[in-house]
Amino acid sequence: MTTVAFKTVGCRMNQAETAEFEAAFRAAGFRVVATNSDSCDVCIIHGCAVTAAAERESLRHARSMRRQHPAALILVAGCSAEKILRMDDPATAAVDRLVGQADKHRLPAIVAQALDLPTTATLPGSELTVDGWRGGRRTRALVKVQDGCPFRCAYCIVPSLRPLQTSRPSADIVAAVRRMSEGGCREIVLTGANLGCYHDQDRRLPELLHALADIPDGPRIRLSSIESSTVETAVIEIMAESDRICRYLHLPMQSGDDAVLRRMGRRYTVADYRDRISFACRHLDNVGLGTDIIAGFPGETETEFENTVRVVEALPFTNLHVFPFSARPGTPAASMADTVPASVKRERVRFLNAMGAAKQARFAMQQVGRPVTVLLERVRRGIGSGWTGEYLPARVTGKDLTVNQLVKATVSDSDDGMVAINGRNP
Ligand code: SF4
Repeated sequence: MTTVAFKTVGCRMNQAETAEFEAAFRAAGFRVVATNSDSCDVCIIHGCAVTAAAERESLRHARSMRRQHPAALILVAGCSAEKILRMDDPATAAVDRLVGQADKHRLPAIVAQALDLPTTATLPGSELTVDGWRGGRRTRALVKVQDGCPFRCAYCIVPSLRPLQTSRPSADIVAAVRRMSEGGCREIVLTGANLGCYHDQDRRLPELLHALADIPDGPRIRLSSIESSTVETAVIEIMAESDRICRYLHLPMQSGDDAVLRRMGRRYTVADYRDRISFACRHLDNVGLGTDIIAGFPGETETEFENTVRVVEALPFTNLHVFPFSARPGTPAASMADTVPASVKRERVRFLNAMGAAKQARFAMQQVGRPVTVLLERVRRGIGSGWTGEYLPARVTGKDLTVNQLVKATVSDSDDGMVAINGRNP
């Protein structure tokens, strides 16, 4: 049987799509193996192009796979294969073939043709119909419900890499999640290029959430990041009504300065953003709040950066993702004068990351004495680890712990941003 291994770089949506590819290759008669297995006929790197670092990582994996499996067919698929990489570039010497966004859902057929195999299998049905979750060692199931972004943030390459807007029919998603739930899945994560733009006729993300939360004994539901200025207030209201939906909201802020937000082409002001966070805090008791911030956007002055620091200080974030600005060719920001020296960007990232760590530690401390629900992803020598609904890492000690178990218990302690549950006390 022909063996195929996958390596994913990038966001949760890429991970969800890789799970779909794996399912499609199995359905087409391939055997999916780990990248470090002894024998591997095909290696597929599902690459990312959102930052230059992600692009380099895709190529590093290609070179490493070439060293491990010299005779394998090596493909790079997805965003980085779309507009960024070129086969005539020496950097792609380890790669046999690039498969862009439009073709990646035909990967089994492309590989079969390249290896002259007797199959022409493609993904069954539309590109969004395969359920990636198969249980086993995986706990969370990533469910891609939407693709494409109609916004035009100046720094972002996604709209040109994923220009087509599609949403998976909600009835199809509900049926798939019901099947996953019957198979033992305890948590699904809804993903999309711009999740807040989900649209199936008159059903938007809030209606989809209602339908998923109504599945009897269904899994808990987590949202990946959602753009402010889409449907976030309706989503917060549903979170407040349903204990099935994890109380974790990731709203990318990117900057706490209005002039920088304007240059970035974001669709809100700092005041709008602060209103959304206040709304969430009024409606949700004990909510995890995540955000993304770009440090050193072209022209970001010391004063503009300090404005961001002040907003981060004032808002009750519990999880900060901070990135240094990196110009993506083909975006408007790539032609702006990049005035912030690399050393200043590094220092701004370091400063914000330190603030993020302190905020997460404070939130973890506030959980002591509160009930939480932890999905165990790993159990070793009687110690389980996983994540709370509010997206804090958790360590659980107790008897009879198993992977994929939802443990409801009171937090006994916290340590450096992690909560501890000692002796499981339901
Ligand atoms: S909302 Fe902005 S940052 Fe997010 S994918 Fe769309 S263009 Fe990119």
